[in-house]
Amino acid sequence: MSTDERTHIAIMPSPGAGHLTPLAELAKRLVRHPHDFSVTLIVVTIASSSSSSQHDYLNHLKSSTSIDVHQLPPADLSDLPDDVPPEPRFFLAVQRSLPHLRDSLATRSIPPFSALIVDFFAIDAFAVTKELGLPGYLYFTSSCNNLCHMFYLPILHATTTCEYRDLEEPIRLPGCVPIEGKDLLEPLQDRKSMAYRIMIDLAKRYMEAEGVLVNTFKAMEPGPMKALKVPEPGRPPVYAIGPMVQTIGPVNDLSGSDCLKWLDQQPSESVLFVCFGSGGTLSQEQLNELAFGLELSGQRFLWVVRSPAEKMSAAFFTGGGGRWKEDDLLEFLPEGFVERTRGKGLVVPSWAPQSQVLAHMSTGGFMSHCGWNSTLESVVNGVPLIAWPLYAEQKMNAVMLTEGVRIAIRAIAGEDGLVEREEVVRVVKGLMEEGKEVKQRVKWLQVEGKKALGEGGSSYKAMLEMTEMWRTPKKL
Ligand code: UDP
Repeated sequence: MSTDERTHIAIMPSPGAGHLTPLAELAKRLVRHPHDFSVTLIVVTIASSSSSSQHDYLNHLKSSTSIDVHQLPPADLSDLPDDVPPEPRFFLAVQRSLPHLRDSLATRSIPPFSALIVDFFAIDAFAVTKELGLPGYLYFTSSCNNLCHMFYLPILHATTTCEYRDLEEPIRLPGCVPIEGKDLLEPLQDRKSMAYRIMIDLAKRYMEAEGVLVNTFKAMEPGPMKALKVPEPGRPPVYAIGPMVQTIGPVNDLSGSDCLKWLDQQPSESVLFVCFGSGGTLSQEQLNELAFGLELSGQRFLWVVRSPAEKMSAAFFTGGGGRWKEDDLLEFLPEGFVERTRGKGLVVPSWAPQSQVLAHMSTGGFMSHCGWNSTLESVVNGVPLIAWPLYAEQKMNAVMLTEGVRIAIRAIAGEDGLVEREEVVRVVKGLMEEGKEVKQRVKWLQVEGKKALGEGGSSYKAMLEMTEMWRTPKKL
């Protein structure tokens, strides 16, 4: 087949590894058999926000796939005050990049595009797709449970006046685990904030999508998926196409290959991997409690450590806050910690090749912030979790993982927000020594995830249904 005959899809993630990775994985899948599409990945970047891990990832993508990677000129966000959280930043970066998106859709349209797929924070791109008569699709890179809540959000907003944390009853949606108001998305916790207004506006605009793809699968979320099958006027059709996770990427970083070598020497399923996503950070006090807790638990661990910060998403725009050497860690870890735990534990500065670590046979548990990609990476490798949510929608995910699908134990913070060392010991031992039920459930889910993606599986079929529509594009 000549290049010009292939169906051509544009995909545009908003900034952040948690958005880029799943959309790039979708692109990888679309260029492969049985779809054989041509894909242009349009990458939104932010001026003066450098992430070496993103840079490595894009280079790897360019050199190892046929995806046309096109980086838009950096969006300038320097006028925003420092305390503006990640969500409005993603949204504004996309909004300020729209003129460049319009140009690239016009100049790169050979063969003509059949659809543009964006994630949640990039919905503003639908203004451009409408102008160009191109169908716009939303790839919701989180759970179906969260998608149900996002569809419901405009109603919740219109029918309540208090802050959601003050709601007397949990929110009970068909098929979903009940969610208390305080566990809803972090940017929804202050009705007067810019982040809140943006989230409500985005949620209302879900209806503009021609279809919504979700990175999940039937066995993981039977209830919410069933609820979304019930047709509702104006609501776009939903296609569950997961679990789609980062396929093995390059490990060209010294600390990355070191930690895999270290894992090679550990007994099977004996190591707890501790990592809080691409942007999660802990306060100095919390870092101490976690360190002492890990040490007191006596379990083996591999810990991705970042410099402490009061803001829990402090490293988001730097992809781990830059690269340090192990010596730099000594500054903010308890005195003597590295020496006392040497052999049993390994600390890695800022970033580890997470998908390889989770796939390694020595890894037996994952203490995670419950970002959706991390969650799915754990599931596809059959690794049970300790849920330690920090920001964004992570508390909702933690509730779903502990009370819904039951593959995690939750670390409970005290009233001051601190997870104390005794609690760390409880959850670490609870998972690594006793967590029989969660271990069995996650192994079962691992098998179900494979089945969903395999020929004839539910996600495989949903993907074929979508791609058939793109082969016969509809002009709007
Ligand atoms: N990640 C990684 N190494 C790290 C931290 C994160 O490879 O040290 C990857 C991880 O494998 C996942 C992504 O970054 O694919 C994080 O996405 P997630 O949705 O879990 O959380 P977010 O970073 O968006 O909060």
